[in-house]
Amino acid sequence: MMSSRRTEFSDDAVVLRNYKSGEADRVAVLWTREHGKIRVLAKGSRKPSSKLGGALDPLSVVRVNLVQGKGDLYVTRNVSHLLTLTTLRASYHRISAGYAVVEGIDAIPLDDVADEGIFDLLIRVMASLDDPKFDPTLVPAAFFMKFLAYDGSEPLLEECAGCGSSGPFFAFDAGVGGVLCSTCRRGSPLSPETYKLLVRIMGGDLAGVLRERNVPGSAELVHLAHAAMENHLGKRLKVARMTPSIQPSSHE
Ligand SMILES: [Zn+2]
Repeated sequence: MMSSRRTEFSDDAVVLRNYKSGEADRVAVLWTREHGKIRVLAKGSRKPSSKLGGALDPLSVVRVNLVQGKGDLYVTRNVSHLLTLTTLRASYHRISAGYAVVEGIDAIPLDDVADEGIFDLLIRVMASLDDPKFDPTLVPAAFFMKFLAYDGSEPLLEECAGCGSSGPFFAFDAGVGGVLCSTCRRGSPLSPETYKLLVRIMGGDLAGVLRERNVPGSAELVHLAHAAMENHLGKRLKVARMTPSIQPSSHE
């Protein structure tokens, strides 16, 4: 006699990516609210008749029923969308920004550690990307900076991370831990516009920034945020580098 039937439970999740497995199956990598980052086997999900397939597309926000499978793999038979994300799905620019974010999240080691704070950040990213009032250009950069702060590496913005002087600042380096004066400068160049933008985003005005289009300093901020995230993870981020940093909103 086999052991008793494994308990089924449900969780909310953002789909980071998926890949083919076997003849007709798919494995999805999810960031869940209660179980952190997990891999989930969706049996038969590549069959045309399957209702699981579309719900496991990257960037989907879903409610998923789970059973513990072999090793660290879970099995699901039921996935439903929590958000429709119509605006996000209709825009290449918004989708690209979403892919850059999930690539960064996916680079966090798979350790099954629940981290509701990261899940909440991800949900806010998806909601921002789906909001027609918000420009998506700076969403990945803002997410990376907020993730660093959340993960215990909040960048120093009020004083030079090298010598403690009160500015002006000419560079940003995540390895050193923040902005740097002319004497200590290293890492990414930092213009006054980008510094102002960084202070606004980290100081609670992200919504205000996202409502503006083509904010001065945007391209530089995208570059330094990606560099900071890569430095923190010790990994290169491919999608983030390919994402067009500035794109007129009329081209969405
Ligand atoms: Zn200094």
